[in-house]
Amino acid sequence: MSAVWEIDLEAFAANLRAIRERVAPATHMLVVKDDAYRHGLAQIVARAVAEGIEWIGALDVSTAVAARAVAGHDARIFAWLADGTEDIESALDAELDLGVGTEALLEAVAALAAARRGTARVHLKIDTGLHRNGVRPERWEAFVERARALEAAGAVDVVGIWTHIGEASDAEDDLQREAFDRAVDQARAAGLTPQLLHVAASAAAFARPEFRYDMVRIGAFAYGIRSAGGPTEQELGLRRVGALRAQVVRVGDAGARADIGASAGLPTSVAGQITAATPAGSSVVDQVHLETLLLRPWAGQAVGDEVTLFGRGGIDSATDIAERIGTIGEELVLRISDEVPRRFV
Ligand SMILES: *Cc1c(COP(=O)(O)O)cnc(C)c1O
Repeated sequence: MSAVWEIDLEAFAANLRAIRERVAPATHMLVVKDDAYRHGLAQIVARAVAEGIEWIGALDVSTAVAARAVAGHDARIFAWLADGTEDIESALDAELDLGVGTEALLEAVAALAAARRGTARVHLKIDTGLHRNGVRPERWEAFVERARALEAAGAVDVVGIWTHIGEASDAEDDLQREAFDRAVDQARAAGLTPQLLHVAASAAAFARPEFRYDMVRIGAFAYGIRSAGGPTEQELGLRRVGALRAQVVRVGDAGARADIGASAGLPTSVAGQITAATPAGSSVVDQVHLETLLLRPWAGQAVGDEVTLFGRGGIDSATDIAERIGTIGEELVLRISDEVPRRFV
């Protein structure tokens, strides 16, 4: 064995059940961007569908199309970063639900759907303050009126209205929610009848019921990655899914050298910050080199010993380490390079 990124699909399934219980009656859209947060798109989508997940959130169209191939026809797959004619054509072919956050995209989607005598399912995005993507409130009224006209013409079906919130402070989130509610009122006044309102990601979906609306878009918590500075895994009722493990390849007085390092995506700043699990208890990672790292010696250390750097079966979680080096758990996980093979258990 050598270094491995191990994914426990049973733990993932348990998290899906915990999320369903927590957010009901809202629907859980499972977010699978970035190769399901490095947990493996195909395996994660297959298991999610088997566990009853009906909505998948994919960010870009190519990920959404890949998810469609695994999830089959019945799943609803949401992509919110369509860009250009080719993307839109693929989205229509794969019967995706499209997030639409600009006037230009609305026009392009409607035109391409009309050209093939089809109807595109769209979720209109209001920018409630993050300024990343979404139609600004001052242009929203004209936007929803145009959407209603395109809907009447049969080119689009406005099934949802959504936004993305910061989840950094309750007060700012509250302001964003007020802006969202106003946008929904304006959409209804324009004659739209959106069935799916969605705002919250992991943190707000768990902590703040009033942010759940009809659906919540949860990625991190499904993979057992808690928010930095937030409640513990135990408080959330979530299990760790991934585990980063390595193998001891050399031992000496200075400690044990394991076969993973910066080239595999570990930031060098984790030196001194990871408490790894060894066969004989815990050991701190003292140094991170390009191909290896050095752990403090333990009694009986031996070549071939397996150590868990973070995650399931280890001591630290990705977020525990992230908090110490000023980042978030997702970032640490997404940095794990493809050189590290993934194993499913
Ligand atoms: C990534 C993302 C989510 C999921 O966020 P988590 O905090 O991982 O649950 C939800 N919505 C959008 C628009 C996103 O980009």
